[in-house]
Amino acid sequence: MLNEVMWNSSVPLELAGEGRFVIPRKEFVPAYVKTYEEGRLREKVEEALELLRSCHVCPRDCKVNRLENKTGVCKSGRLARVTSAFTHFGEEDCLRGWNGSGTIFFAWCNLRCVFCQNFETSQQGDGAEVTASQLAAIMLQLQSAGCHNINFVTPEHVVPQILEALLIAIDGGLRLPLVYNTSSYDSIDSIRLMDGVVDIYMPDFKLWDSQRSLRYLLARDYPDAARRVVKAMHEQVGELRVDENGLALRGVIVRHLVMPGLLDDTGEIVRWLAEELSPDTYVNVMDQYYPAWKAKTEARFSDINRGICESEFEQALAYAQKAGLWRLDRRWRRVRPRFEFVEVPPAQGQI
Ligand code: SF4
Repeated sequence: MLNEVMWNSSVPLELAGEGRFVIPRKEFVPAYVKTYEEGRLREKVEEALELLRSCHVCPRDCKVNRLENKTGVCKSGRLARVTSAFTHFGEEDCLRGWNGSGTIFFAWCNLRCVFCQNFETSQQGDGAEVTASQLAAIMLQLQSAGCHNINFVTPEHVVPQILEALLIAIDGGLRLPLVYNTSSYDSIDSIRLMDGVVDIYMPDFKLWDSQRSLRYLLARDYPDAARRVVKAMHEQVGELRVDENGLALRGVIVRHLVMPGLLDDTGEIVRWLAEELSPDTYVNVMDQYYPAWKAKTEARFSDINRGICESEFEQALAYAQKAGLWRLDRRWRRVRPRFEFVEVPPAQGQI
């Protein structure tokens, strides 16, 4: 028997699944609220901060003492650095809705993607350091602006700082679902700490092959790390579920950017998602690759110094469908973007 919940008929099948994937909004409570009320969030914060002492927040395992502001591969010390915070209308329709996704872009990154389209943020560290209170205030401002969720972009290296700020934000009234928008180069410790905190995981599964991961991401172990954490994310929150209006509330949204000439990786990734997670996994197969950063300027990466062609994208979609995936993201909501930027404090503050 179909779920008896009602939903807006304009919500596409791949989101609502004829009611199978709909949670009534009035029944939804963000995961972190329950964890907080059960008194378990503070323990998570303490455990997470301890990871910074000999940093193994991500698979790089740099073992530097970030509590003393020492830095490793991600160049981040004790405080998180924020590049920008705003109502984002470029995200998937189930996240942007009609008021935007409350996006917080963190500076620096633990990967070194040679094709990074945000290299000023990820490799040059554009932005300002923020204290936990300042980060909490940014979350609350995005909530006040009417955003549908708080969307942490590139959070892999600042999981402890996010948890620390969240505790303050909850006291301040934060009640939006949290989106963990990651490259999937996370440690299993971080994802375990986010259990009962994150509502929506949005891992970008980039490459399948370890040699290619070394060449293009400077992380040979990327595919192993990604498989491990994406599976853990799925075990925590399951398939994507939405409210009556098609807004994401809980579950996994996998992104995959199709790369020129690297369709073997696409084929393996979508097959793995269907077999190891579920054919009901919600997937955004993305066609917007363009060469940036070193892929554009260094001759040794000339093989990826072009966009993908139409036939490559069609082949990528065909691989996904052949694997059994059917919840493929597409644009369906008409909205007029209304950008609102939140002020990020310009100078380093006190912890
Ligand atoms: S979070 Fe940064 S310092 Fe810590 S292990 Fe990863 S790259 Fe190294």
